[in-house]
Amino acid sequence: MNNKIWLSSPHMGGNEQKYINEAFAENWVAPLGPNVNGFEEDLEKFLGEDAKVAVLSAGTAALHLALIQCGVGHGDEVICQSMTFSASANPIAYCGATPIFVDSEPETWNICPAGLRQTIGERIQKGKKPKAIIVVHLYGMPAKMDGIMSIANEFEIDVIEDAAEALGSKYKGQMCGTFGRFGILSFNGNKIITTSGGGALVCHTQEDKDQTVFLSTQARDNAPHYQHSHIGFNYRMSNIVAGIGRGQMEVLDSRVEARRHMHDFYVELFKDIDGVTVFSEPNTDFYSNHWLSAIVVNPQETGKTREELRMAFLEDNIESRPLWKPMHLQPVFENVPFYGGGTSEKLFNNGLCLPSGSNLRDEDRARIAKIVNDFFGK
Ligand SMILES: *Cc1c(COP(=O)(O)O)cnc(C)c1O
Repeated sequence: MNNKIWLSSPHMGGNEQKYINEAFAENWVAPLGPNVNGFEEDLEKFLGEDAKVAVLSAGTAALHLALIQCGVGHGDEVICQSMTFSASANPIAYCGATPIFVDSEPETWNICPAGLRQTIGERIQKGKKPKAIIVVHLYGMPAKMDGIMSIANEFEIDVIEDAAEALGSKYKGQMCGTFGRFGILSFNGNKIITTSGGGALVCHTQEDKDQTVFLSTQARDNAPHYQHSHIGFNYRMSNIVAGIGRGQMEVLDSRVEARRHMHDFYVELFKDIDGVTVFSEPNTDFYSNHWLSAIVVNPQETGKTREELRMAFLEDNIESRPLWKPMHLQPVFENVPFYGGGTSEKLFNNGLCLPSGSNLRDEDRARIAKIVNDFFGK
């Protein structure tokens, strides 16, 4: 059997262990220390826009703390892009709030600004103004932030950007994760950089960052004994894990470059195959890190299905995956309101994510190309 080609596997830069060893040498084996502070500074410098970053145990934890700070509580409504990973929507339920799912538009596969406006209008008419909007930059593709931010500002609703997949992506030159009141990042094992598991909340005021750290460390009041006036969480990142993050930050630019190179490879590979579209930036306002490269297979035009292609890859031990199944089609969110048409559903039915790792080699690309060319009879 050929060795496995993964969709997206961890890719260490080399200095991660150095930072971990320093933590051991100085006995900073705790959820605080020089690596935690250093990783936050690295991220703040990378993101610009006066970003204030708190590193946490997971991107999901970051979303939870963002929602709490937007005042989301029991019985509230939160608008959320339907086409995403469940981690975008679950924290809404943690707060006892109801998600309101909105469909994507076909260019970026992210929340449709027109659909967003219509949804806010209808929810207000029904008697409740949504407390927050969760917009996702899917597979690294920036959402249409101009339209989204102007609608959110008009209705005075906080925006939380789920940039878990989009570290290094930009919209009109500005880093994804820095547009909304909050942005979340993930360093899970499959993301563009990883700390094995971890996340961050991007804030814009010292007050929001301090409150995030406070909530993530069990909400201890300033007293010599243990005193609490708020419900707290154990969501802070460990200093060992942050050491991996510092090493990964040294190679982030080259990881973005390598992922973008994989996208270029797929554009070239599919350019003469009618009925297959490679997911690409609509114009130069959008700069995607291309965390995952993805295609849409038109079964009428190609005479083939996405699922048949996935199986052909699998036979050669190559991993590929259907796109995220939209939240409004998930059994767990069966009775949740959904606004939109069939855009995300159609993408889900015909879309496939392809191996996109920054550590793929020429021989891996050759194997992928052979499967594709044989499959489509090229
Ligand atoms: C990975 C991911 C998350 C969750 O991040 P974790 O660090 O795994 O908790 C949230 N949203 C999206 C879109 C993701 O891809």
